[in-house]
Amino acid sequence: MADITTDDNGVRYHCVGIGVGPANLSLASLLHSHPKISNLFLERKANFGWHDGQLVAGAALQVPLLKDLVTLSDPTNAFSFLAYLHAQGRIYHFVNSQFDAIPRQEFRNYLEWASRNNKNLAFGETVREVAFDGMFHVRTSRRTVLAENVAVGVGQRPWVPEHGAARLGPTQFHVHDYVDRAADVAGKRVAVVGGGQSGAEAVLDLLSRPGAMPRQVCWVSRRQNYFPIDDSPFTNDYYMPCHSDYFARLDLAARADFNAGQVLTSDGISLSTLRALYQRIYLLRFVAGAEGLAVLRPNREVVGLDGGPGAWRLTLRHNHHPGAPERIGADVVVWATGYRPEPMDFLAPLASRLEREHDEYRIDDSFAVRWDGPIDRNIFMQNSSRRQRGLAERNLSLIAWRSQRIIDRLRGVRTDDQQHSFIDWSVVPDDPMSGAR
Ligand SMILES: Cc1cc2nc3c(=O)[nH]c(=O)nc-3n(C[C@H](O)[C@H](O)[C@H](O)COP(=O)(O)OP(=O)(O)OC[C@H]3O[C@@H](n4cnc5c(N)ncnc54)[C@H](O)[C@@H]3O)c2cc1C
Repeated sequence: MADITTDDNGVRYHCVGIGVGPANLSLASLLHSHPKISNLFLERKANFGWHDGQLVAGAALQVPLLKDLVTLSDPTNAFSFLAYLHAQGRIYHFVNSQFDAIPRQEFRNYLEWASRNNKNLAFGETVREVAFDGMFHVRTSRRTVLAENVAVGVGQRPWVPEHGAARLGPTQFHVHDYVDRAADVAGKRVAVVGGGQSGAEAVLDLLSRPGAMPRQVCWVSRRQNYFPIDDSPFTNDYYMPCHSDYFARLDLAARADFNAGQVLTSDGISLSTLRALYQRIYLLRFVAGAEGLAVLRPNREVVGLDGGPGAWRLTLRHNHHPGAPERIGADVVVWATGYRPEPMDFLAPLASRLEREHDEYRIDDSFAVRWDGPIDRNIFMQNSSRRQRGLAERNLSLIAWRSQRIIDRLRGVRTDDQQHSFIDWSVVPDDPMSGAR
């Protein structure tokens, strides 16, 4: 690797990152201890944020604290969650708090702390175009920087079904905007659509507003019930590096089948949230006598939306009785219908040179897009290859490991050294211990 340092204007880098969410913040944090790899990370938001519009009271992280930005790859790194707690002088208080799960606000504050302590991040700068002439030219809303390598970590954007998307506004919105837009729904009928963690958190929050309760909260989900996340030990082995590598070598159909079949290991609802919800509904109904406040409609899909702001009518199709539509009225509709990959229009100048697999860029073992350019010039993809790398791709579990793989590629080394899962994922033709030949 050529030992490039930034030039007088600070515009040439070994690695330029696009987006500063947890994925690229992990890469930036791990790169911090490699001063020879000059780097700059560009974020369009003016300040660091992490799903701030969904930070409801009581929200908690769905992974353990060791799955922070750096620890699983570099336990001695200065950007660990424990280092954050220690720097704030509250590591003992944290231990004594005995949280079952880390409050999401606290993890968000940790991420922000990591961003504040890294001078290689620039906020308020949108990347508009990436071109290539032997170096990548990364054009932003403010300037152009040159890079040997680019790391794309632009995450996901909110997604709403077609019938809602055209008429979004103050009374019909994605859960991404929940904190502001659902601030005052006292006395109103609220429909929450979506049976994952975000929908569950919204429903729990709406039912926990003494003195300012909605008139009705109707929770619609396509899934057959409100299902928990599977957080058990062997299932969590899916979220190990060895499984990510195993998965990547399966054929397309097997990968698709796996992701569909195991989706609740990633996208289910925390058991603590489900328990809190059930207990809240019990108390409201049987102790407070608030009959009819919580209406639970899983196993249904919203197939239509009419009416208008403040007086919406949703049409639901029951999965077992598709010929008998249901209608519900709502003053406010909250779509907790998930996210889709953020478009990467800035890669348009290179599009014909980058390999694709369906709607994803085809990546290699180092998360670099396969292309016709020089092998020492790479576009790394973070969190955008679920079809190729599995369910772990979009959550926090493997961000430190994935970042380390990218750094290894930049350094021309390989540092993976953790032992394999207890489970043999691949075929084992001859097991020496059982004497089979
Ligand atoms: C409410 C919520 C809670 C979650 N909780 C968990 C959890 O507990 N555990 C877990 O494992 N996962 C969780 N997730 C999954 C989540 O997707 C990841 O945790 C994480 O946010 C993904 O990080 P990322 O960096 O890939 O993307 P993002 O966090 O989306 O960050 C991408 C960044 O790129 C920026 N960007 C986009 N385009 C450009 C551009 N052209 N130029 C410059 N910047 C750009 C965006 O502004 C954004 O800041 C949660 C998701 C949500 C929505």
